[in-house]
Amino acid sequence: MADDFFRNDPSKGMLYLRDGQRAAKVSEDFIVGMHSGLEEDVGDAANLIMYKCGREWGLRDMKRFNDRMRHEFGGGKLDIWQMNPQFVFETWWWPLTIQGWGAWTLDVSFHQRGIVFAEIRNSAVAYSMQRVGKPVCHLYAGMFAGVMSYFERTQREAIEVQCYSMGNDCCKFMIGPEKQVNAAEFWRQEGATAEEIRNKVG
Ligand SMILES: [Zn+2]
Repeated sequence: MADDFFRNDPSKGMLYLRDGQRAAKVSEDFIVGMHSGLEEDVGDAANLIMYKCGREWGLRDMKRFNDRMRHEFGGGKLDIWQMNPQFVFETWWWPLTIQGWGAWTLDVSFHQRGIVFAEIRNSAVAYSMQRVGKPVCHLYAGMFAGVMSYFERTQREAIEVQCYSMGNDCCKFMIGPEKQVNAAEFWRQEGATAEEIRNKVG
């Protein structure tokens, strides 16, 4: 099945996604090394750097994805924000599951308020790292912020409200306006669970 999503060019030593974008296959050690190396260099600022990398990735990936969706499903006219969000995000994410980023579910019941919740099982970051008792999937949080900013065409931020790395069975994220995301971060630091945070914003 992976052959449907990747194309190898052994003569150049390159790996591509189906639409021609270059890709790299990395091990868990690579993910650990990237995070711990960055943390050694810049301390806690590493979290923000991973978040910003994720955000940029999300924005670019959505732009690429929107071009494809407009062509394939939108008759060359409709953009993704004019399509059903559940359909859009499921179509976007499932190749990422094949690529090893984990399975996700999206909860759009608070979408009217600009807030969505996402749940990731088998986060590639959290499964690589030790259980450190705090969220580690800043790359994912940033990616969701970028993705939703593009989709909503306004600034969105994201926060991981629970993580596999904290001993939970999966990672949960809240994506929304900066004010609500900051409030959620405050509650999380005060010890609120993902469910409590969801109830507070809901
Ligand atoms: Zn996590």
